[in-house]
This record gives sequence, C-alpha cells and structure tokens, in this order.
Amino acid sequence: MTALRGIAASFGVAVGRAVGLPRSGRTPRRRVAEPEAEVARLKTALDASRSSLEQARTELLAGAPEAAALLDAPLLMHGDELFLDAALEIIRRERVNAEHATLRAVQLLRAPLDHAASAYLRDRAEDVAQMGHEIVRHLRGTFAAPGLVPASVVVAEELGAADAARLLMDERVVGLVTERGSATNHTAILARALGVPAVVGVRGAVDAAFEGEGVVVDGLGGRVIFAPEAEEVAQAEARAAHHATLSRALEEREGEAAESRDGVVVTVLANIEIPEEASAALAHGAEGVGLYRTEFLFLDRAEVPDEEAQRTAYAEVASRMAPRRVVLRTLDVGGDKLPRSFRMPPATNPALGLRSLRLSLERPELMKTQLRAMLRAATEGQVDVLFPMVSGVDELQQAKAVLAEVRRELEGEGVSVGDVRIGCLFEVPAAVLVADRMLPEVDFACVGTNDLVQYTLAVDRSDPEVAHLGQSLDPGVLALLAHVVEASRRAGRELTMCGEMAADPLALPVVRGLGFRALSVPVMSLPLVRELVRRVDFGELEDLARQAREAPSAAVVRGLVKERLGARLGELFELRGR
Ligand code: PEP
Ligand code: MG
Repeated sequence: MTALRGIAASFGVAVGRAVGLPRSGRTPRRRVAEPEAEVARLKTALDASRSSLEQARTELLAGAPEAAALLDAPLLMHGDELFLDAALEIIRRERVNAEHATLRAVQLLRAPLDHAASAYLRDRAEDVAQMGHEIVRHLRGTFAAPGLVPASVVVAEELGAADAARLLMDERVVGLVTERGSATNHTAILARALGVPAVVGVRGAVDAAFEGEGVVVDGLGGRVIFAPEAEEVAQAEARAAHHATLSRALEEREGEAAESRDGVVVTVLANIEIPEEASAALAHGAEGVGLYRTEFLFLDRAEVPDEEAQRTAYAEVASRMAPRRVVLRTLDVGGDKLPRSFRMPPATNPALGLRSLRLSLERPELMKTQLRAMLRAATEGQVDVLFPMVSGVDELQQAKAVLAEVRRELEGEGVSVGDVRIGCLFEVPAAVLVADRMLPEVDFACVGTNDLVQYTLAVDRSDPEVAHLGQSLDPGVLALLAHVVEASRRAGRELTMCGEMAADPLALPVVRGLGFRALSVPVMSLPLVRELVRRVDFGELEDLARQAREAPSAAVVRGLVKERLGARLGELFELRGR
C-alpha cells in the first residue's frame, strides 16, 4: 500500500484499477508472471535500439559528419553493463515489466551524474536518459497496451485536454490521477464537468502504481492509495456513499429558488464544455448556460470543425436551453488547451503566449468562421457572444469589429442571423483596472477567476509546484473583484462570475458579499451552490466581504469564513472540489 497526497481536483471518491496511457510519458509498472520473458524483451529492444542508432549515425556521417558525433555517447551507453545489470536485476527481483526496469535503471545511473560539478558529466546524464527513451520506444512497439477495463483509474504524468476529453467521457473511467496539473487547469475542469473524481499534482504517482491493480482516488481529501488494503477500500466506499447521500439530499432541493434567507435572489447558471451537458444543466436547475467553452469542440479532432459543424453544436445548446440564455465563448485555445489540428509550435510560456482572443485576432478566418456559426445559431435561442482574455479596450474593439463585419457579410448573403449580446470576460488584471472604459463597450461581462488568479498572483495554473500559491481569496484578487463589481454597477452592466471560485464553498460567501449576483458554475456544483446561497443572509455576507478585504492573507479569509459560517455550512465545506 502506498498513500500519496495531491490536489483534490474533482470531488467524489472512486475505487478502481490503475491504467496507464501507453503513448504518453511514463506509465505504471506491470507485475509479470515470467520475468525471463521480460529479460528477453529487454535484450531484443536494446539490440533494436542500438542498430537503429547505428543506422542513423551512418546516415549522418554521409550528410552531416559533425552531427554524427552526437550519437556516439548514447551508442556507447547501449553497451553499458552497469545499466543492463541494474535493469535485469529489477526485472528478476521485483518481477516487473521491462519498460519500468529500463526507466528505473536509467534513474540509478543518472542520479550521480545529475549532481556532478562538471558540465561534461551532467551532459552524460542526458545521454543516459536519451538511451532509456529509445529503448522504451522499442519496447512499446512490441507490447499491446492493455487499454481501459471496467472501473479504470487513469494514472498518468499529465493529460492533454484532448486525451482528457476522450478518456473521461468513457464510462469505464471512474477516476483520474496525474502527477502534474492543478485544480483549475482544463483536465481538472473536464473531470469535474463529467463527474469523475480526480486528484492531480500527485508526485510519484506513476511509479507508485501497478497496471491493473487497485487504486483509491479520494477527490475530497486529495489523497490517492495504491494497492489499498481491504480496510482502506471499505473506508473509501463508505466515504463515497456519504458523499453520494449528501449530494442526493441537495439534488432533492434543487427545485427551490436560490434565494438567501433575507430574500436576495441569485442567478445560478452552468459552465459547460460539451453540448451534451446542456440537458444535465437543465436537470440540475440551471437558469441558463453562463459559459460554454467552445474550444472543447476543437480539441479532440484531427481537423478544425467547419462552420456547419460548429453551428450544429451551438444551435443544439441554444435550442435545448431556450428560452434561457446561452453564453458562447469564442475560442480560448492555447495555454493548457492546444488542439492537435492547430499544429502550433510549443510556446515558451503558453499561459502568456499566443492564446485565446489574441490567437483568434491573429487568424481572422478562424475567428470569422466561428462567429458566423454563432450568429447563425442565435436564431435557435438567446445567444450571447463572450470574448475571452481581453486585455484592453483596443482589443475589445477589434473583436467587436470582426463580429460586425461577419454580421454584415451574412446579411449580405441573405443568411438569417439572430440578435446576440456582446460580452467581455475579465481575466487579465489590466482589463479589470480599466473596467470603467471596457464596460460601456459591451452588453454584459463575466469574470474568469481561474486566469485572473493566475495572472494577478503570477502563479501558473497548471503547475503543481506553485498551485498552493494560487489562492482565489488573496487580498490582491479580492481588490480586483471589488473593483470590477463597482465598475459594473456604475455602468449598469450585468456581471457574472464564471471561474471555479464561484463554486468553492469557502470562497462563495465572500464572492456573494462582494456583490456578485450571478454565478456560473460546473454542472455538478449547481445543487451545492444553490444550497450555499439558501443557507445564508446576504447582509451578513456583505459584512464578511468587508472584513475579508482587509485581511492580510487568503488563509485568514478562509479562517474568517469558517468561524462565521462553519456552524451552518460546515458539512457543505466538505463537498468542495478543492
Ligand atoms: C477562467 O479563466 O476563470 C475561465 C472561466 O476560463 P477558463 O477556465 O476556460 O480559462
Ligand atoms: Mg480563462
């Protein structure tokens, strides 16, 4: 049994069997019945790897002899007896597969080199690693991956959003554990949307897991247990049952209005990633879709979806939700969401790179196709268009100009289009600071706290090393939130919070107290958020928010929320996703 801690990213508790992703990075080890068969596989792969490197070296010698020398060191490593002995020993002693033994032997060999004072020796560490990757590549070519089984828990270093979408929608997947990531990156958002318990940022998870063997994923407490004992499985099952009972009790009350004890009503909308979620949103009492992340339509495809495919998806959501509103956000790719079809080179710092609205403005054809699809879908219901990651007035005006141009073109072609309201997503601090000038340009606005926290606190939302610093209740973030609420009041524009902060039970009382009257939250969080609203007085939350704004740190604010509301909301705090 090995228990590891991580970040609780999607609530719920799952018990299942570990499954790796054979083509992406490291995978869990496998227990083998016949170690000698693995020894033979390793020797064959080593030979194959050596001859392909030799061939590459011969080709280089003919064309670029200077470069050929680069392969000398990895080739030499292939004859390293220390490596082979270590790998064979691991296979025989631990009765595990050759891929795992290769990577472990590489670690053993490179550890002293990694910390060497000489740069030459540190470079040799890279040679050892390269040799390991080459051998594993050959090994994987000879091994048919086991694939998903009923009650699979995917254990991976990291999942791209496209892989995450494919896997998490598969009903055989009951849980997710990743070594990297944080609660607000898109794999976590998708896991929450699809109700799959997930713990991310679990260091050492892949090496602790055995392919096909038991795992407990505690997405409430942020804990993962590999090869659990029967008692731990029983405890996890009891915890899962308690969570389910509490969730059901909340669902039973979801027909009731989201109105505080002192009679203030809150609009609760849903965040969705795929059109199919619209029905679940309705079933859980959503008053509309406050954020449809349209980029998920682009993620799992080899080609960019054309205008008609997009129109169909948007129209489906609009007509299912009618007469309720649907906010269609224009493409927000880049950062941790990069569709295969975009074929973009990796950015130095993706969160600060060519992403979101910047990318749309850079590729007008892409943007125009999407806006055409949105305007056409608007004939099916009440559609609002939301521009993400706007950094200032000029960028907003450029986006609006493209929308106006597209509308003129469609009307010129005699295509029927619907009326749309235009919105701006505040998630860049610079935009919040000039909110007074931004708001008159739009019909409504939203606040995306996932990115706003990332950019305000300079904390990469995908990096588990700094995830604990990305506190949405930080005084700096609260100051920006208060600023945008006041600006929207002055401008008379409706303001919705659609970041994950709106669904965090510890943060929500402060968010409400700051004056947010509309919240857009993951579908799974709708019952919880409505209940949180019902159990408090708006007046007391205003007072709480005033105190929170003066607090020195997020930790103090959390303490304050617990102290003031713990008696009434305590059991709901347990249901939080992170
Ligand atoms: C946000 O940043 O808070 C947001 C709503 O957008 P996303 O999470 O898709 O970046
Ligand atoms: Mg965002």
